[in-house]
Amino acid sequence: MKNNKDIIIIGGGLIGLFCAHYLVKDGHRVTVLDRSAIGSGAARGNGGWVCPSRSQPMASPGTLREGVASWVDPASPLYIPPSHLPAIASYLMRFARNSTQARFQKSLDSIDGMNSHTHQLFDALEEEGVGVPLDSHGYLSVFETHHSAQAAHEASVETAKRGLTSVPGEILGQSDLLAIEPALGTAAKFGFRQHGDRWLDPSALVDKMIDSLSERGVNFVPDHTVFSVEERPHGVAVTTPYGVFEAETAILAAGAWSNDLLRRLGFNGMVVPGKGYSFSVRPPVLPVHNLQFGRSHVAGTPIGDKLRIVGTVEFDGSYDTLNRSRLDIMKRGASPFLRGVDWENGVTDEWVAPRPMTPDGLPLIGALPGSERIIAATGHNMIGLTLGAATGVMVAGIVENGNTHANRAFDPARFTRRGSPLRKVVAKAGL
Ligand SMILES: Cc1cc2nc3c(=O)[nH]c(=O)nc-3n(C[C@H](O)[C@H](O)[C@H](O)COP(=O)(O)OP(=O)(O)OC[C@H]3O[C@@H](n4cnc5c(N)ncnc54)[C@H](O)[C@@H]3O)c2cc1C
Repeated sequence: MKNNKDIIIIGGGLIGLFCAHYLVKDGHRVTVLDRSAIGSGAARGNGGWVCPSRSQPMASPGTLREGVASWVDPASPLYIPPSHLPAIASYLMRFARNSTQARFQKSLDSIDGMNSHTHQLFDALEEEGVGVPLDSHGYLSVFETHHSAQAAHEASVETAKRGLTSVPGEILGQSDLLAIEPALGTAAKFGFRQHGDRWLDPSALVDKMIDSLSERGVNFVPDHTVFSVEERPHGVAVTTPYGVFEAETAILAAGAWSNDLLRRLGFNGMVVPGKGYSFSVRPPVLPVHNLQFGRSHVAGTPIGDKLRIVGTVEFDGSYDTLNRSRLDIMKRGASPFLRGVDWENGVTDEWVAPRPMTPDGLPLIGALPGSERIIAATGHNMIGLTLGAATGVMVAGIVENGNTHANRAFDPARFTRRGSPLRKVVAKAGL
């Protein structure tokens, strides 16, 4: 017989909703508080990829090789305005330390482990009437040169060896590409298809989850910004402008905004907003594949009757300030690869949101040292949708069995502040 608890989830974004599902399934009573509408932040306009094989942490030898010189270039897919460098310096130093081949591989192994059941979990959600259908037509990467296609193909062959996706198909020329994807433009001269990773409409998923959870008794409380969360002798107290909410356990799932709450609890500000952008276009023929446009780091996901163009990471300290030049870069990246799109007047659904980035590319999932009733579920970087279901399962396990159920690689203790009393707790526990 399970010990059913009252649980407050701080943040009704993707992670908060996935956690709510698995906690309700275990019989707990769940309240979700959000600063805005439920399903805000980065929950809806993202790329929709459920992509175990494309879950590499950003902290990698490749990203580091590109280096700070390229990151301050406004045309770079990863952009940091020079004026923001001092504010983010300690994050970048930690990012650099995590970008060695050995650390990258270790982080990747941890993410792979977590992703090992991702597809089954999403299929089960759909069967239970909580999830939405996933598209499995495959990812089509297209390039202007054979050399670029060859390099990407070799990388995809290596990726397939990790066992989370199929081996990519052979490299195709322009006419073969057009035969399987008539929407392509003239720049798509070489390319290849890979099956395995899938995608869905994230906004439809959010709506479906909200409906299902409401029916199962979850108490959604929008427009309640949580200012602080603290552990008390018999539970937790969660403070909002409209009063204090009490429960036995709190799940901290406030996405890129988690930092403010974590800092108050003795953590050192290592969840930072990495803004990403999307917008929609309507090509005359809607692509059937998820398209990867050359080396631009811009992609196109077919959602409904539109193609959602997604890309870029921008660290400027803001959460949702729309920088129009980032949209222009994405248009320049995608336009040569698509035909018949009106890039001036045919662009809709412009969207910007912060990814919760961490310097090692790994999420924080686990009870906070010194505050065992507060469980972090945040810092999912660029793969919060992909890892959402597995995170929910893990959090439900921690609520049930304590932190022994947690994966040490994701332990929030790695980000405790120097000099904070928490450091002593962490040291004593040998973490
Ligand atoms: C352009 C872009 C494309 C992406 N594409 C993909 C993809 O294809 N596949 C994938 O796996 N991932 C993708 N991601 C990443 C994914 O969207 C995030 O990792 C994920 O949304 C993180 O989930 P979260 O719940 O932690 O944060 P969010 O989804 O941002 O939700 C956080 C919620 O917390 C609320 N909140 C914040 N502060 C407070 C507070 N103090 N009190 C109460 N509520 C609060 C917010 O209002 C929000 O509703 C993409 C992200 C972007 C920006």
